[in-house]
Amino acid sequence: MRKLPIYFLIDVSESMVGEQIQYVEDGMATIIKALKQDPYAIETAWVSILIFAGQAKTLVPLQELVNFYPPKFPIGGGTSLSRGLGHLMFELRKNTVKTTLERKGDWKPIVFLFTDGVPTDDARTAIEEWKKNWSNTANLVAISFGDQTDATILSELTEHVLYFNNASEQDYKKFFKWITDSIKTSSISVENNASGFELAEIDNDTIQKIDLTKHNHPAAYHDNNYVVLTAKCQNSKRPYLMKYRKFIEPSGFSGLETRAYRLVGGFQIDNSYFELSDESQIDTKINSDELIGSPACPCCGNQYGFALCRCGKIHCIGHEEVSTCPWCNSQGSYGFGDGSFDVNRALG
Ligand SMILES: [Zn+2]
Ligand SMILES: [Zn+2]
Repeated sequence: MRKLPIYFLIDVSESMVGEQIQYVEDGMATIIKALKQDPYAIETAWVSILIFAGQAKTLVPLQELVNFYPPKFPIGGGTSLSRGLGHLMFELRKNTVKTTLERKGDWKPIVFLFTDGVPTDDARTAIEEWKKNWSNTANLVAISFGDQTDATILSELTEHVLYFNNASEQDYKKFFKWITDSIKTSSISVENNASGFELAEIDNDTIQKIDLTKHNHPAAYHDNNYVVLTAKCQNSKRPYLMKYRKFIEPSGFSGLETRAYRLVGGFQIDNSYFELSDESQIDTKINSDELIGSPACPCCGNQYGFALCRCGKIHCIGHEEVSTCPWCNSQGSYGFGDGSFDVNRALG
């Protein structure tokens, strides 16, 4: 039986923390459930889930739908598109059965790439390798979550670059239905010995094809829609993230718009965060004046999730007299100053 390999290459960088990663997790579970009930897909489709942040890894190896159980998604630091692509090509090389004189190989693999931000590294080499070795032997659909992805980079990988307006839970439901339908129509196409790649029809409110003639090119390797700060709980020693979303304040007296970031929430994460993060993080700072709101600790409930140790790292504090930094173990007591300070932000 010739299989139709379907790969998901999913960005799990910090800006996805919270609702978004939960919707993706639920969405992937819905896709698998629906495909298991589809007579064509269950015959031909094999699915794998790969994730990338600062590092990339295989979350679920390529397998038949019957045995497929939807995974939990971790979060990592950074958006290394080059490592994501590199890992995808490694998996493709490893798994794809090529056509030989004796037998028909696999159908052309279909790759759905989801990304929500600007790569935090230079992906040129990986993109060149993709173009040279894989652009003709795999079908890639690149989907930009939110409106500030670098579509120019994605358009070098494929002509199928889509914009997904991920505003609400309802949008996510529609989006994952579209993915499911696309896999179903592709499985039917395989059955009819056609190309094996048929995207379902697009509903323009939720998913749009990006007009690649209008190039927009964010200059810096940094994701500016969100500020995400990494912290550790003093009591549980577990990491958590504090996520802020950008908003532009209307001009005041000066006539200038001001940029600030408003708290979305604090989110507990597990230690796999560090495995998925890029060690060589660029040292980028943000001033606390630009950040509005601070969460309670999502791990232990301490009232203040945002205390800055002299080591430069963030942890939670409660009513204890002497606090111990879970990063560097130094002890100190905190007063509440009103001065602003600079903190290191994660890459997103
Ligand atoms: Zn805590
Ligand atoms: Zn410290």
